[in-house]
Amino acid sequence: MFDYTQFVKELEELKKAGLLNRIRTLESPQGAWLFIEGKKALNMCSNNYLGFAFNENLKEAAIEAIREWGVGPGAVRTIAGTLRIHDVLEDELAAFKRLEACIVLQSGFNANQAVIPAILDETDAVLSDELNHASIIDAVRLCKAKRYIWKHRDVRSLEEKLDEAEQAGARKKLVVTDGVFSMDGDLAPLPELASLCERQDTLLMVDDAHGEGVLGENGRGIVDHFGLHGKVDIEVGTLSKAFGVVGGFVAGKKTLIDYLRQKARPFLFSSSLSPAETGAALAAVRLLSSSDEHVKKLWHNTSYFQKKMIEAGFELGPTRTPITPVMLYDEKLSSTFSSRLFEEGVFAQSIAFPTVPRGKARIRVMISASHSEADLDYALERFKKIGKELKVLG
Ligand code: PMP
Repeated sequence: MFDYTQFVKELEELKKAGLLNRIRTLESPQGAWLFIEGKKALNMCSNNYLGFAFNENLKEAAIEAIREWGVGPGAVRTIAGTLRIHDVLEDELAAFKRLEACIVLQSGFNANQAVIPAILDETDAVLSDELNHASIIDAVRLCKAKRYIWKHRDVRSLEEKLDEAEQAGARKKLVVTDGVFSMDGDLAPLPELASLCERQDTLLMVDDAHGEGVLGENGRGIVDHFGLHGKVDIEVGTLSKAFGVVGGFVAGKKTLIDYLRQKARPFLFSSSLSPAETGAALAAVRLLSSSDEHVKKLWHNTSYFQKKMIEAGFELGPTRTPITPVMLYDEKLSSTFSSRLFEEGVFAQSIAFPTVPRGKARIRVMISASHSEADLDYALERFKKIGKELKVLG
């Protein structure tokens, strides 16, 4: 019999250090308010930026797609798992992103695994921001190219690493960055990265998971936000956050996407998105293309809440987006703060090591267009009350 003692010990250590993930089960659908463990709580930590996860249009589209196409894709895309509805989603997503072509994967995580190992080999170099998302880190680990890690948002540091890669004789170079950094909500310096990559003949890839549906015209993302169309070679996105469904994609030049259809392992070896997900995602793209109402509401709510939290004395770090990290630093304090919020009817999880570095624990509040001002005031009052109680506020 396998001896599980080591796992038991490690779990106990995590608990002692306040690092054990407290997984709470939702007893109601996604929404501004939730039922969790028999309690009604305001949802301040989902990525459902636009409220699309329970949008009636999207729900109807999913049901319609099931009626027309069934429940499962039946195979991987390259064998018998490409349905007409997948092609339509890819074409409309590419048009929305103002790019030539798009390939849809099962998640944003898979989209990064799909692209990085497929386009690089041992003669190449990959240059990654030190705070990039875990799915980029793992994709970089999976590829055979030489790795260079540059300091967070530091273009000088990247320039030095590019020189090193050049001197080491790299054939192709790929610079990869999150668009919006998911734990702090700060933005990649994309205009500077784009001009550097252009000068150095280097591929530029941005993972826009938290910018999709949030930044740019009608939520077209960070490239649109900075007016950089044509300057970024590879855009990765997710359908699981603002789009409200699940899935991921890579968009760019047709040649790149044709190449990925032949080489990307999650595309070749894992079954495609189900009809319901595909139909709902298509409805999300159509909704965003036709109206910016939800995106505007999201930004209104973001300014409203963040301004009041700063006035109350909380530290929100360098965020430029609806991601609102309430910095508490100490892991145990952050975990206690989150539990107290839950007792007071606010669901906002503590995020600690290994998701963020040790000593950088925080409550990461996620603002949504589905919140009303009254909801945000409710959260604010609870944050202030517990902030005083736990001596975070003076
Ligand atoms: N990239 C980034 C930057 C992310 O924040 C996330 C989600 N945490 C992902 C990729 C993964 O997306 P998905 O949940 O669709 O797999």
